Amino acid sequence: MLKIDNLHATVGDREILKGLSLDVRPGQVHAVMGPNGAGKSTLGNILAGRDGYEVTAGSIEFDGKPLLELEPEERAAAGVFLAFQYPVEIPGVNNTYFLRSALNAQRKARGEAELDSMQFLKLVREKLSVLHLDDKLLHRGVNEGFSGGEKKRNEIFQLAVLEPKLAILDETDSGLDIDALKHVADGVNALRSPERSFVVITHYQRLLDYIKPDVVHVLADGRIVETGGPELALELEQHGYAWIADRVAPGA
Ligand code: ADP
Ligand code: MG
Ligand code: MG
Repeated sequence: MLKIDNLHATVGDREILKGLSLDVRPGQVHAVMGPNGAGKSTLGNILAGRDGYEVTAGSIEFDGKPLLELEPEERAAAGVFLAFQYPVEIPGVNNTYFLRSALNAQRKARGEAELDSMQFLKLVREKLSVLHLDDKLLHRGVNEGFSGGEKKRNEIFQLAVLEPKLAILDETDSGLDIDALKHVADGVNALRSPERSFVVITHYQRLLDYIKPDVVHVLADGRIVETGGPELALELEQHGYAWIADRVAPGA
């Protein structure tokens, strides 16, 4: 599904990713954890195709095709969902209208018929029910005045409607409360399927109390320094990231 091989990337002239490799198979949930400044969000931004990052070596394959050659919209149409690709806030643009445009743009790019408003409404109702959400957020402006928790709920709702093959979620270090984390976790759990993979980037061990990942990675100093099962997250919970420092700079 997603195969990252020996990825090196710079911001400005500083190397942030230093040989990162990651292999995500269909249906798997991978957690990428790590200390602040390790390069987690950089990884997410590169997958999203954000400007300002230069890949200097290595490759990323999605579904057997080179991801880095695709524009952000092409990545979305191919089935990659990147939460942060969707506008943070667009005041005055109705959330439902926006989402329908995004979905139809993707369907069009794939050569599929666009959904009319009745069909879209049916899809929306179905997803609201799967996620146990009410329709409060639908009629507001996109993320307009949303709380952190509401933004997260909306992100998961967008994910549900767009039905990607691969979803990459960066739960930034910006103080999400436990309710917001739970919404992310419930959403991921409800939307797991044998054909859909998730990469959940998080600084928080506690998110993984609610999402049971198949694989846990520790990203430190621009590389994956440790990979394991869910027990790795528990180890981090007990010992923090300090013991990882030894692997980045032995004896330092
Ligand atoms: P994490 O998400 O793991 O906390 P980031 O990927 O946000 O780490 O950042 C990794 C390093 O790259 C940090 O030292 C950060 O300051 C630097 N960095 C990331 N993005 C930029 C940018 N756009 N401009 C300058 N430095 C950046
Ligand atoms: Mg950070
Ligand atoms: Mg980050």
